[in-house]
Amino acid sequence: MTAYKIIDHTYDVVVVGAGGSGLRATLEAARHGLKVANITKVFPTRSHTVAAQGGISAALGNMEPDDWRWHMYDTVKGSDWLGDQDAIEYLCRNAAEAVYELEHFGVPFSRTEDGRIYQRAFGGMTKEFGKAAIQRTAAAADRTGHAILHSLYGQSLRHDAEFYIEYFALDLIMEDGQCRGVMAWCLDDGSIHRFRAQRVILATGGYGRTYFTCTSAHTCTGDGNGMVLRAGLPLQDMEFIQFHPTGVYGAGVLITEGVRGEGGYVTNANGERFMERYAPHAKDLASRDVVSRAMTIEIREGRGCGPLKDHVHLHLSHLDPKIIHERLPGIAESARIFAGVDVTKQPIPVLPTVHYNMGGIPTNYHGEVVTLKDGNPDAIVPGLMAIGEAACVSVHGANRLGSNSLTDLVVFGRAAGMKCVADIKSGARQADLAKGAGDGALARLDRFRHAKGTVSTAQLRLSMQRTMQSHCPVFRTGSVLREGCDLIAQVYRQMPDIDVKDRSMIWNSDLVETLELDNLIAQAAVTVESAAAREESRGAHAREDFAPRNDEKWMKHTLSWFDTKSGKVKLDYRPVHTYTLSKDVDYVEPKARTY
Ligand SMILES: Cc1cc2nc3c(=O)[nH]c(=O)nc-3n(C[C@H](O)[C@H](O)[C@H](O)COP(=O)(O)OP(=O)(O)OC[C@H]3O[C@@H](n4cnc5c(N)ncnc54)[C@H](O)[C@@H]3O)c2cc1C
Repeated sequence: MTAYKIIDHTYDVVVVGAGGSGLRATLEAARHGLKVANITKVFPTRSHTVAAQGGISAALGNMEPDDWRWHMYDTVKGSDWLGDQDAIEYLCRNAAEAVYELEHFGVPFSRTEDGRIYQRAFGGMTKEFGKAAIQRTAAAADRTGHAILHSLYGQSLRHDAEFYIEYFALDLIMEDGQCRGVMAWCLDDGSIHRFRAQRVILATGGYGRTYFTCTSAHTCTGDGNGMVLRAGLPLQDMEFIQFHPTGVYGAGVLITEGVRGEGGYVTNANGERFMERYAPHAKDLASRDVVSRAMTIEIREGRGCGPLKDHVHLHLSHLDPKIIHERLPGIAESARIFAGVDVTKQPIPVLPTVHYNMGGIPTNYHGEVVTLKDGNPDAIVPGLMAIGEAACVSVHGANRLGSNSLTDLVVFGRAAGMKCVADIKSGARQADLAKGAGDGALARLDRFRHAKGTVSTAQLRLSMQRTMQSHCPVFRTGSVLREGCDLIAQVYRQMPDIDVKDRSMIWNSDLVETLELDNLIAQAAVTVESAAAREESRGAHAREDFAPRNDEKWMKHTLSWFDTKSGKVKLDYRPVHTYTLSKDVDYVEPKARTY
């Protein structure tokens, strides 16, 4: 049907995405002899993981005694009891080993005086099941993601993983409910590639760019999530969007929570340390949802800073400049460039900014994608796996604790690689693909490539981003969310009228951005619809019209499907895993969440 010439490839495993999670899975599968391809739209070390600043959590116990069970308790509590406790047990139990592996792979962690890996305090991380704050977050100054990504890329090359760099994955190849491969477009020579594999692992990152202001890179468009929705599979818990308390006012650039971990604090226009009122124990180190809401209330009630009273101040000028220089050099630079302040003398103007997606592709703790099928809420989708921010394991539940994402990337990246090694044989014969496999993906590409409508991609993207910003914010109400659903549906209806100017196949950023927008808009739709339906407040989802958490009715994961033809969203639910993997740790019973 198509005029495109297709180049075919066969691998044991194809990983889409070369951020921390994709590289860790690539490395694990490759070093055990599987033939692995990694497809990535940006150069591996430009993936968003490179921007991770603050660090990676693990109960190493280098600063004071620690226990992975305490880490597990904090993560369950942080998740506001929406996280799956079997997966959280797996995360926290394996975190220390995963960090030591990174050390051996070459990550230059910051050190204590006696040469051990330094750890800093982070929000929601405590000792003895909530008694007091603990230093659990390992860091390479404030450039932790940068260090991890470079080490993992080098290690993957060492084990002969093959990289397809600046290839844009278009769609999954699905046959009878099984994933058989993926279609991709080589951005630099315009060629089209069909990858056949025993396992496809999606590691495509988050979708922060559905919003107008976010801390994530322009490339964070959730392409894997978009592919999953087009394959007729659901996404999970998409209403849970994390706002990081300290994005630079106006620019959205992140100032790591590590600043507060090192002793920084926020104040309102009266110079008051208002977190003392909202979280008497944890104060500035309460979990992110709690701090973001407190800041929003301060601003709303007229105590915001600046002429417009629309932000708050983050102080670190009381810290020893030597500490700032050694442990927070990157944020000192960001504050200078994006806010024009010298952090040793002035506060940084900050505002809650969209930062992380707790929701994503539902998986079990091996990284296998699951769906609700014939009444089974844990039905495995054969051939398909997902990890990292694209996935919803779910260890972060309704709210992720700072520094738990990098842990998630390496623990589950490794788990997914190990699962491939256990389940598949290298070079096993793969059945021929069905005739015309991938034609649907090329038809979609072709449709956008030749689109001749009246509205530009940038205009439509802006309408979507503004709507998400105003209609799916920190505090939510039913009527505003419903209006948001209608507005997003309106944007979606305009997609057939989109106008693409560049028809070429080589470095066509106009077309790339259009394909990305098509992925984003489907995710925006399922996000607002899921949020409108959830009539309770839990973690990052704060409903003013349904203030308390309602465990009886809502302790369950939202599943959302998107019909590309009609633009309609369908919702259903699956139970939270309220059990642990082993007897080494007890199920954490739900209770009120105070910091
Ligand atoms: C500024 C910032 C600071 C952060 N700091 C921390 C921190 O200190 N600690 C912490 O725990 N977490 C932190 N986080 C969160 C954490 O960094 C991210 O959740 C994590 O890095 C995501 O990693 P990933 O592997 O899922 O994907 P990413 O690193 O986002 O990589 C996605 C990959 O997918 C590829 N890709 C996407 N779409 C396609 C496509 N269509 N075709 C081909 N390839 C594709 C991209 O090329 C890229 O390689 C931070 C996040 C941000 C934004």
